[in-house]
Amino acid sequence: MNAPECNIGLHRVDTLPIENSFARLPPAFYTQLRPTPVSSPYLVGASARAAELIGLDPAEFAKENFIEVFAGNRLIPGSAPLSAVYSGHQFGVWAGQLGDGRAILLGDVPACDTDESGTSGRMELQLKGSGLTPYSRMGDGRAVLRSSIREFLCSEAMAALGIPTSRALCVVGSDMLVMRELPESSAVATRMAPSFVRFGSFEHWYYTDRHAELKTLADYVIDRFYSDLRDAPNPYQALLAEVTRRTAELIAQWQAVGFMHGVMNTDNMSILGLTIDYGPFGFMEAFDSRHICNHSDQQGRYAYHMQPQIGQWNCFALAQALLPLIGEPDDAHAALENYKPAFDAKLDDLLHAKLGLQTREPDDSALVEGMFSLLQNTHADFTLFFRRLGDLQVDNPSADEPLRDLFIDRPAFDAWAIQYQARLRKENSKDTERRQRMHSVNPKYVLRNYLAQIAIEKAQNKDFSEVAKLLAVLEKPFDEQPENEKYADLPPDWACELEVSCSS
Ligand code: AMP
Ligand code: MG
Repeated sequence: MNAPECNIGLHRVDTLPIENSFARLPPAFYTQLRPTPVSSPYLVGASARAAELIGLDPAEFAKENFIEVFAGNRLIPGSAPLSAVYSGHQFGVWAGQLGDGRAILLGDVPACDTDESGTSGRMELQLKGSGLTPYSRMGDGRAVLRSSIREFLCSEAMAALGIPTSRALCVVGSDMLVMRELPESSAVATRMAPSFVRFGSFEHWYYTDRHAELKTLADYVIDRFYSDLRDAPNPYQALLAEVTRRTAELIAQWQAVGFMHGVMNTDNMSILGLTIDYGPFGFMEAFDSRHICNHSDQQGRYAYHMQPQIGQWNCFALAQALLPLIGEPDDAHAALENYKPAFDAKLDDLLHAKLGLQTREPDDSALVEGMFSLLQNTHADFTLFFRRLGDLQVDNPSADEPLRDLFIDRPAFDAWAIQYQARLRKENSKDTERRQRMHSVNPKYVLRNYLAQIAIEKAQNKDFSEVAKLLAVLEKPFDEQPENEKYADLPPDWACELEVSCSS
């Protein structure tokens, strides 16, 4: 995905036309404060694509001013930094007030629209890990280098996969150590999104009984990001319906690519339907629908197969918070009814595309169910399965060898493949065309934990080359990239010992 053409000029950091629209909300919504400086900051990685979206010249990356600004040591002229308050349900339990405990919103700048959710034509710039705020609770306001690199790479990888997401401009490291299980290097990541308002931002005003603020926030979001809904008979119901639809479609996209968020608390759910707050996420490797990517999630509340229903649960939590504005519970329910059909339709479209099917047949759901049982029983690698499936030839079994190699139980694969080939014949599918279509939707390269880990370990030793290399590979996830074949490899044995948790 190249930066869309738009006319926002080419800026240096200091000439970015920044303002802070969120700061026009009443003071109850945030606390104004400056980032806490860090000593001897250095650039760990930066995304030229993200920079281009906001008209920032990537040549700036090499300048000291860029590093100082995105370390939080210097302010861009015109910015009015603040941390926002929000609340949320964490692991299904009401957690009360949370808020930007380590994030500081610098302001918003003009941006090229990336997709339907970027309708404001602006991007907020937010530092994460930039020091204590009034919402830090027990935390230190900092982020470790390891999780900052993971968020940076995954944000840009998801964007390249065409999945709605916040973006990442850069990661700036510092020699300051922070205490987690062990002392670790810290970093500041800069994220960009049209808005970081969350479901939990609405819950905050609902559960504190401040319905005037609830309305102010809903009006702000509608006017700025959903202006088409302003004239709906009940704009708040329309907002809920639209957020529900976007959330359902987002999670269908996660399922289709095997992405697991890991912490789908309501404070991590974007009101714009974007993937936000990357933490202990993972991409499905050896398929297991019950896989839990977050080591802290003992119950498996956010396991892969749970994501669709948790997305719906979160929309219910949003509906509850919006109820004073919507009025009738029936109207809120009507909006929530969007969830299942939107999810099913989107996932169905995505799976048809992933299988290279261009028509619909009554037996397709059985074919898809059979495929998921096959994957579940054999634990084949999710990404490689779909990628190699694109190389299958309807009447040439020898072309399937790399695909068959993914299965220890070959007869199980062969049995399913016979049905799949029969289905392809039914629509007269042409091998070459289908291969091209399938390769444009089934990525070859995803951010496997072990790939991130290699880049992180090098970065911890001040070698940032692998961060840049991995970013470049993940920016073209659907391309063959013969020189980067090893980045598509199955995880090595040591990778099964990798654990990612909420500690970041
Ligand atoms: P998360 O699960 O990362 O989305 O974080 C949940 C809440 O904890 C949010 O309000 C974060 O701002 C806050 N938080 C997480 N880590 C820290 C930290 N190191 N310092 C301060 N607040 C934090
Ligand atoms: Mg969060």
